Amino acid sequence: MKKIKNEGQLIVISGPSGCGKDTVVKEVLKNNKSAWLSVSCTSRKPRVGEVNGIDYYFLSKKEFEQKIENDEFLEYAMYADNYYGTPKNIIKEKLDNGIDVILVIEIQGALKIKEKLKETVFIFILPPSMYELKKRLEGRNTETKDKIIKRFKTAYKELNEVTKYNYVVINDTVEVAANKVNNILIAEKCRVDRIEETYLHSLEEEIHEILLEDKVFINKNLDI
Ligand code: ADP
Ligand code: 5GP
Repeated sequence: MKKIKNEGQLIVISGPSGCGKDTVVKEVLKNNKSAWLSVSCTSRKPRVGEVNGIDYYFLSKKEFEQKIENDEFLEYAMYADNYYGTPKNIIKEKLDNGIDVILVIEIQGALKIKEKLKETVFIFILPPSMYELKKRLEGRNTETKDKIIKRFKTAYKELNEVTKYNYVVINDTVEVAANKVNNILIAEKCRVDRIEETYLHSLEEEIHEILLEDKVFINKNLDI
């Protein structure tokens, strides 16, 4: 009776570096087979264990700038001295096919998406405390001390942007945080503004006619 929009939902997830975005999203995807995680391009060097085409498309600065020139990004930003950007074409294809697309991106990029695509769902992940954030950044063991300090300082600025998002999830325990994100996605699918039109199937139309012709039914209802 109701035609619900079939397009996928675009979901943007941000939060300070080290708060656990990638960890939480991995957990989200375990229990959500209708969502797809976008693979970004970056000019940053791969970390140990990172795979080209899975974690990121690793490009040189020049290659990245060529893609900017060719208008290949939905958004891009400079973060911690490197470029990061979301490839455009594949996203539209996934959304048109009813697949939800998750972007794990920093705030400047998220705000660009907010200007362009109003129906996007914005989720901000927070660490339980700044002390825990520092511990996680150090524990990940992927950046030099200098870079950790830089990311940690940036985190303080980023926290002020939380009110520009629709939802906030504290990543205390990975499973609980992921569950909250999945519940947000379910709730978003139930929004009334996803209803495109109300209609009757042909069988329902027939029943409708029969009901309208049923005098007892009509009289009974008129009495009420
Ligand atoms: P981000 O993607 O936000 O930069 P990561 O997902 O890489 O962060 O997580 C940073 C570090 O914190 C990783 O070593 C990860 O294992 C750890 N971590 C993530 N979530 C939690 C959590 N809820 N409790 C403890 N450690 C966590
Ligand atoms: P990292 O170097 O830790 O992988 O990522 C640094 C930051 O860049 C993180 O906040 C991450 O979410 C963000 N990021 C990753 N991909 C993109 C992207 O395509 N666009 C933007 N704007 N940020 C991204």
